[in-house]
Amino acid sequence: MVHAPPRPPKGAPPVRINLYSDTQTRPTAAMKDAMMRAEVGDEQHGDDPTVHELCDRMAALMGKEAAVFLPSGTMCNVVAILTHCRSGDEVLAHETSHILHSEGGAHAAFTGVQILPLRGPRGAFTADDVRAAIRPRTRYAPPQRLLEVEQTANIGGGAVWPLAQLNAVAAVAREQGWNTHMDGARMMNACVAAAIPPTEMAAGFDSVWLDFTKGLGAPLGAVLCGSNEFIGQAWRWKQRLGGSMRQAGICAAACAYALDHHVDRLAEDHANARALARGLRQIPGVEVEEPDTNLVFFDVRGAGTTPEALQEHLLLRGIAVSGLGGRVRACTHLDVTAPMVEEAVAAIREALER
Ligand SMILES: *Cc1c(COP(=O)(O)O)cnc(C)c1O
Repeated sequence: MVHAPPRPPKGAPPVRINLYSDTQTRPTAAMKDAMMRAEVGDEQHGDDPTVHELCDRMAALMGKEAAVFLPSGTMCNVVAILTHCRSGDEVLAHETSHILHSEGGAHAAFTGVQILPLRGPRGAFTADDVRAAIRPRTRYAPPQRLLEVEQTANIGGGAVWPLAQLNAVAAVAREQGWNTHMDGARMMNACVAAAIPPTEMAAGFDSVWLDFTKGLGAPLGAVLCGSNEFIGQAWRWKQRLGGSMRQAGICAAACAYALDHHVDRLAEDHANARALARGLRQIPGVEVEEPDTNLVFFDVRGAGTTPEALQEHLLLRGIAVSGLGGRVRACTHLDVTAPMVEEAVAAIREALER
């Protein structure tokens, strides 16, 4: 039996304040207008001008030669690992990584890679951690092929990898002749928070992708970037997995709109996240991690409750948060305003002080 995500409790009103995830944003009216006006063609056939334009922009933005439009971030990771690795290869990634926990075992199922989980605070590891994980090149050890990082690290608390640390781990991979891949689901959050351009952030990595359905607010789509050769191979996997599309320009137009209008405003989400953390910190028994970006993780066990009980209490008041690994996660995004953050803090205080 495979369980679906939990439904709201009976009698819960519609969600008014959605801190559950930045994936739950709705396209704005202006974004829908841009989608309506998109010039389209057969994407699978290479004829969709809006998709081409988005891919060209993304390749330039990330400082790579080429890019491919895919339906989701998960498919970017799957296609990238299929392209970088062969079955039996080993991928080094953080123990909290999305590829390890949230992709349905795709990498074991499709590529047949094994993932070596690395430890470290806030979803990151150091060059020394990577060096300590290097295996001897014997016939016994799995061939190590790829180093993967998440920028920002989701379960790591939306934490931003410092650029020097990114470059240091990528340098060890390069010394070893491994490929490097950046899961950039929320990479623009990192770039805005650290005031570092994407080209610099991704410079040490052979491949990098950006999700348009997180804080950028598009309904669908992610773009994977890399060398011409890498993207050529990636296209074959996209076709094999059924990720080739038709008039995908409708979706690419939303992504292009997001690049134009929804990047700089991520700073507002970060400010709202900091305000949320400040408010929560005032509540006795609540432990809050200081957010780098738009994800606020907090522990309510010290206040004598569980994430699930708090979630249910809030849903009955039209407020959604998520529970992840014993902690509560509240996520700010373009449908969350400063007054909503205040109201959420008040509701959480009320729930915990009862
Ligand atoms: C959301 C997410 C993904 C997957 O992206 P989807 O578009 O939801 O498939 C991958 N990695 C990280 C770090 C994410 O947060």
